[in-house]
Amino acid sequence: MTVYNFSAGPGVMPTEVINQIREDLPSYKNSGMSVMEISHRSPLYEDLELEAEQDLRDLMHIGDDYAVLFLQGGGTLQFTSVPLNLATNYHKVRYANSGYFSKKAIEAAKRIQGLDVQVIENDEVGSKLPTIPTTIDDQLDYLYLTTNNTIEGTTYHQAPNVNQPLAVDMSSNILAEPYNVNDFDLIFAGAQKNIGPAGMTVVIVKRGKLVEQQLLSDVMDYRIEDAKHSSFNTPPVFNTYAAGLTFKWLKKFGGVDAIYQQNLEQAAMLYDFLDNSKVFHNDVPLAERSITNPVFKTDSKALDQEFIAQAKEHGLVNLGGHRIVGGMRTSLYNAMPTAGVKKLIEELKQFELTHGG
Ligand code: PLP
Repeated sequence: MTVYNFSAGPGVMPTEVINQIREDLPSYKNSGMSVMEISHRSPLYEDLELEAEQDLRDLMHIGDDYAVLFLQGGGTLQFTSVPLNLATNYHKVRYANSGYFSKKAIEAAKRIQGLDVQVIENDEVGSKLPTIPTTIDDQLDYLYLTTNNTIEGTTYHQAPNVNQPLAVDMSSNILAEPYNVNDFDLIFAGAQKNIGPAGMTVVIVKRGKLVEQQLLSDVMDYRIEDAKHSSFNTPPVFNTYAAGLTFKWLKKFGGVDAIYQQNLEQAAMLYDFLDNSKVFHNDVPLAERSITNPVFKTDSKALDQEFIAQAKEHGLVNLGGHRIVGGMRTSLYNAMPTAGVKKLIEELKQFELTHGG
C-alpha cells in the first residue's frame, strides 16, 4: 500500500531525494566515505555547501547583498538570534501575533533585556490574522511576521506593504509560494518541511544590516557565520547535503513558480471539497487560507478521531491536527504528490457517505 504522509514536520520528502540519498550513502562521490563521514573542512563538503547555497540563491533569486546561512538550532533558536542580531539600532521591534509560533517568537524576544517588544494583535472580526498597518510611526529595528502559520492553517500570502524593515519566519512555506526576498531584511526557515531532514535552518539576511556583536555566541552571530560559510563550528553536513538534493529536485521541477502552481491546484481541490461538504469544514477566510497546511474539522471530536484512524488504515497518515486546535491538518508540502491529495479527498467523500453527508 502506498503511504501518503501528511505530517506537519518533519514532513514528506521527494522520493527522488530519498533514493539519491540511498544511492550516495555508502560512498559519497566515490570517496569511499559516506557523506556523514566527510570532513567539513574538506573540498567535498565545501563544494556541496557552495552548490546548495547557489541553488537556493537561484531558486529564490537571492542577490549578493544577502547572506545565505545553513545553521543548527531549529526555527526556535532563531526566535532569539533574530532580535539579538537585528534589534541593535532602536532596540524596538513589533511582532504580529498570528498564532502559536509567533507567540513563541514574542516570548523569546521579551526575554531580552532592554528590548521594547510591541505586539499587533488580531482584533478584526472575521479575520484570523492581525492586520498590518501600512504606516507605523515609531522607529523599529524590524516588524516580524510568520508567513505561514503551520498549526492554524493561515498565511500572509504577500509581504505587507509597510514602511518598516521586515523579518519573517518562513519555516512552513519557504519555496512553496513565491515571495520577493528583497521585501525582507531577514527570512528564516527550519528545513524539516520543504527543504529536507530536521537539523538545519536556513537564514537569509541582508548583509548591510549586520553589526559587530559583543556578547553573542559565535554560532549565533550571522556576520561570523557568513564569513565562515556557515562552518564556524561543525556544520550540519548531512542536512545541507540533503537540502542540496531537494534544491536540485525543485529546480528540475521548474522552480518555485512551477511548484506553486501544483500547490495551488492541490489546495484548491481540497478546499473545494471542504466548502461543499456537509460533514467537514474549514473556517479560515478565503484570502488567509494556507495552501501548505489546510486544517479542517467535523462538529464532533469523536468523529474527527474516527476519520483520522480510518484514513490511517488506508495509508493516509499523520492527519491529526495540532493538540491546541484539534481536528485534522493536511500538510501539503512541495513533495506531496497530487495522487495523495486525490486519495485523501476520496477518503473524505467515503467517510461523508457513511456518516450523514
Ligand atoms: N516556526 C514555524 C512556522 C514552525 O512551523 C515551526 C515548527 O514546526 C517552528 C517555527 C519551530 O521550528 P523548530 O522545531 O525547528 O525549532
